[in-house]
Amino acid sequence: MTDASSHDNSTYRRRRERLVQTLRDRGIQDERVLQAIGAVPRHKFVEPAFRNRAYADEALPIGLDQTISQPFTVAYQTSLLEVEPHDRILEVGTGSGYQAAVLCEMEARVFSIERHKPLLTRTKTLLDDLGYSIRTRHGDGTRGWPAFAPYDGIVVTAAAPNIPDALLTQLRQPSAPDGTRGGRLVIPVGGRDGQTMTRISRTGSGPHDYEREEYHNFRFVPLVEGDDKNGDS
Ligand code: SAH
Repeated sequence: MTDASSHDNSTYRRRRERLVQTLRDRGIQDERVLQAIGAVPRHKFVEPAFRNRAYADEALPIGLDQTISQPFTVAYQTSLLEVEPHDRILEVGTGSGYQAAVLCEMEARVFSIERHKPLLTRTKTLLDDLGYSIRTRHGDGTRGWPAFAPYDGIVVTAAAPNIPDALLTQLRQPSAPDGTRGGRLVIPVGGRDGQTMTRISRTGSGPHDYEREEYHNFRFVPLVEGDDKNGDS
C-alpha cells in the first residue's frame, strides 16, 4: 500500500466515525446498523468527483439519473427491517450497492434486483471487488424474486405508488412452534413529491394477516414497473 492510500484510508475512516456519530445524533439507535455503516467504504460507491462528500449525510448522484440514498435513509430503513444474522433479505433497487453492502455487514443473506442493466453490471463488479457476496438480478423488482422466497425482510429503495402484492406474498410467515418471526417489508409509499416510510409485517398465513405501520416522510427516485429491456431508459 502506498503512503497516499493509507493516508486516504485513515481519513475516510475518521469521516466514517463522524458520520456514525451524526446518525446517532439524528436518532438512529440500532447499534448493529451503526456498526455496519461504520464498516462500509461509502466513498467507493460514489463517483470519484463526489468522493470528498461521501461521508456527509446526503444522497449523491450515481449516473443514469439515479442516486445513492442518504446514509440516514439507509440507516432508517435498515433499522425498521430488524435484521438478524442469517436473515434472507431482498432489496428492490440495487443502485450503487451501498444498501446491499450494509445488509451484508449485518450478516444477512442478500438478494437484490435492479432494472437498469448497465448500473447493475457496474455495481456487481464493485461488490465482488469489495468481497461482498450478494446475489443480484436484472429485472422488475415489483415482482419480487420467488425462487429465493420466503424473505425475513424486503426493502424497497425507490418510491412506490402502491404496495406490490408479490412482495407481500414473498414475506416469511411466522411460525409459533419454533418462534420464527414473520417477514417485514419496508417500503416508501407515495407519489413523486414525497413518500411515507411504511412497514408491513406478516402476522400469519392468511391473506389478511399483515400489520401496517407508518413512519416519517422521505423522498426517493421512482419505482418503475416493467422490464428495462434496452438498458438505457
Ligand atoms: N439502494 C440503492 C438506492 C438506489 S436508488 C443504493 O443503496 O444505492 C433506486 C434504484 O431503484 C435505482 O437504481 C432504480 O433504477 C431502481 N429501480 C426503480 N424501479 C425498479 C424496479 N421496478 N425494479 C428494480 N429496480 C428498480
